Amino acid sequence: MLYRLKKSGYQAYLVGGGVRDLLLGREPKDFDVATDATPEQVREVFRNCRLIGRRFRLAHVRFGREIIEVATFRSANFGKAEQSANGMVLEDNQYGTIEEDALRRDFTVNALYYNIADFSVVDYSTGMEDLRAGLLRLLGDPETRYREDPVRMLRAVRFAAKLGFNIEPATEAPIPELGYLLADVPPARLFEEVLKLFIGGYAVATFEKLRHYGLFAQLFPQTEEALSHEEHEFPLTLVLKGLENTDRRLAEEKPVTPAFLFAVLLWEPLRRMAERLEQEEGLAPYPAIQQAAGWVIERQVQRVAIPRRFTTPMREIWSLQPRFHNTRGKRPARLLAHPRFRAAYDFLLLRAEAGEADPELAAWWTRYQEGQGLDPAGGNKPSAGRRRRRRRPRKRPAPA
Ligand code: ATP
Ligand code: MG
Repeated sequence: MLYRLKKSGYQAYLVGGGVRDLLLGREPKDFDVATDATPEQVREVFRNCRLIGRRFRLAHVRFGREIIEVATFRSANFGKAEQSANGMVLEDNQYGTIEEDALRRDFTVNALYYNIADFSVVDYSTGMEDLRAGLLRLLGDPETRYREDPVRMLRAVRFAAKLGFNIEPATEAPIPELGYLLADVPPARLFEEVLKLFIGGYAVATFEKLRHYGLFAQLFPQTEEALSHEEHEFPLTLVLKGLENTDRRLAEEKPVTPAFLFAVLLWEPLRRMAERLEQEEGLAPYPAIQQAAGWVIERQVQRVAIPRRFTTPMREIWSLQPRFHNTRGKRPARLLAHPRFRAAYDFLLLRAEAGEADPELAAWWTRYQEGQGLDPAGGNKPSAGRRRRRRRPRKRPAPA
């Protein structure tokens, strides 16, 4: 890939997280390529190429199942970039030199270029030094850089948690004051970032840092509010255990479902609201959860645009919770046949572990499944036995 660009007379470098992770002896998640070829020229070199992006135009080149992002060197010329009233960069497609490109990147350790022409690492800032010292340092003036793109605050936290790095003091200082700027970031972009924050294998550390800097409240205001009531410990325990599970599953290379994660993160505000509806409006548990779910999700998606393919299973996981209390007659069999039973049961276990739900009830359901010849620890997939038992197969979106 790099060679092909080079043969066509362009410069081509490996850059970003791939180089950083390689130098740290970690397995890179993906590779980014920087070049002096424009996106159109990249397309001329690679037929399997698609141009994407508005804020930054990029070329995506397909290699079998992998997609490599090829970006043209960006210019240091900020003047022409389109900015919003508070300094946020909306559009930025000025092309420049590699030095200019380096200074436009976020952290010094993300601005290292691997040059395939001579196998050297090119460092226009203090990237190598900071990499050795384990420091995340923003390039340029931190406050300006956060104003240009508030997501850089989330990236600082994410990389600090993932790499075990410290955030350099000047880079760290403005974060608590500027967190509010995240309100200007489109909720769809924040959704993508939230997935990276919590499905990167370091969710617990990331969560704790996000709260430390006051950024979690920007992403999940209702959760932060609910966690701030200190009469119980279980809400925080539930979140921590849920995130721990996620990290463990990723470490074991098992799949994790965002719906389950969001169900965990939003459970406490939902539970509190449902409880109020029961007490104050006399609603039964099931309709109370239904109604509270609608409100909690509606408020949440204004910040972080969780798509419907995740909010639907989230609602189901929540709504099934009161049904676990019915352990008589045919009800358990009916609940067991529900397509979302497995996730809802895992959720019940988590609640019990956190001390919110009755451990006896959770144990009852574990025994009940064993009594039906099922393996209650069978992961998120329905076992063959269960599938045979299902009476009314329903059409539902596949679990994400
Ligand atoms: P990883 O892929 O491991 O999450 P990464 O550093 O590769 O980390 P990407 O989001 O893939 O992160 O971005 C690739 C590179 O693009 C970064 O290393 C950085 O140089 C640059 N970059 C990405 N996002 C920004 C941003 N918001 N501001 C400035 N530079 C950025
Ligand atoms: Mg990357």
